[in-house]
Amino acid sequence: MRLITLLNHCQHFPGFVYEKARLCPESSTIEIRVRPRRGSKPVCSGCHKPAAGYDQLSIRRFEFVPFWGFMVLLLYRMRRVDCRACGVRVEELPWAIGKHQLTKAYMLFLAHWARKLSWQETAVAFRSTWDKVCQAVEYVVEWGLEHRNLGPIQAIGVDEIQYAKGHKYLTLVYQIEKDCTRLLWIGKDRTIESFEQFFTLIGKPLSESIKFVCSDMWQPYLRVIRERCTNAVNILDRFHIVAKMNEALDDVRAAEARRLVQDGYEPVLKKTRWCVLKRKANLTSLQRFRLRDLLRYNLKTVRAYLLKEDFQQFWEYHSPTWAAKFLCARISPEKGDENVI
Ligand SMILES: [Zn+2]
Repeated sequence: MRLITLLNHCQHFPGFVYEKARLCPESSTIEIRVRPRRGSKPVCSGCHKPAAGYDQLSIRRFEFVPFWGFMVLLLYRMRRVDCRACGVRVEELPWAIGKHQLTKAYMLFLAHWARKLSWQETAVAFRSTWDKVCQAVEYVVEWGLEHRNLGPIQAIGVDEIQYAKGHKYLTLVYQIEKDCTRLLWIGKDRTIESFEQFFTLIGKPLSESIKFVCSDMWQPYLRVIRERCTNAVNILDRFHIVAKMNEALDDVRAAEARRLVQDGYEPVLKKTRWCVLKRKANLTSLQRFRLRDLLRYNLKTVRAYLLKEDFQQFWEYHSPTWAAKFLCARISPEKGDENVI
């Protein structure tokens, strides 16, 4: 079977003909000459319409997918067109774009492997270079962005990740639906401005069609969600809520412990940090003993601890109505500030 037959089978371009294949043993390269089919008109790269031929440039080499350890090059003399709309322009090719030396097929091939291996490993495995792998990935990402279909979006999740050393963050937005879980967007920082860019990107109708947003309790996120996803329920996960309560409890405990020492009282809060922060089931017997002892005192820390423990009930509700009643009872102003966490 001839190489050209194979090529025509997998990469056939109307208007072009694979002329002949030649093996260069010294460089382990297969060169395949390509020419325009007789009578076919070149296509203008400006307006993508057929135009009259103008002249021909010197031969260019395009890297195709390597074959049995051989590098495969397509050799082609590009034509220039004399386009009525765009003037003299180089022709558009179906197998390559712009000044890229790699064919589209080869870029797809490299980008596919670059998802499984590191870029460097991909370059070594296919006797290419890191730069070319990078070009391939860029091409595929650009194509993906241009052809991305965003909507409709029902549920999204927003989260931050820390990177580098120190407090540098990225904001990540995921689509989290039964049949579609994917990363939609990454933004620098975790500020109001950065998160707003996501909603600007998807536009107002799509933002307003979102029904559920999962987030942590980071204030800027909460604010942007409230303002942009006007029809969505903002779901805060249990882990973050419990973490926030523990933070508050720890602040109360630390301040009170300092005050007791300053005022010359017995340091009853000493070594009680984990007794109040840990879940009951995870306490050691000594911690359990300390906690029992601590609960006898009339302290702010004890009240805060009891409120935190009381809130555990909230997670047991199956009925939204009862859960709402539970919350209202604890945050309504008529009940006094004591119950507010
Ligand atoms: Zn044109």
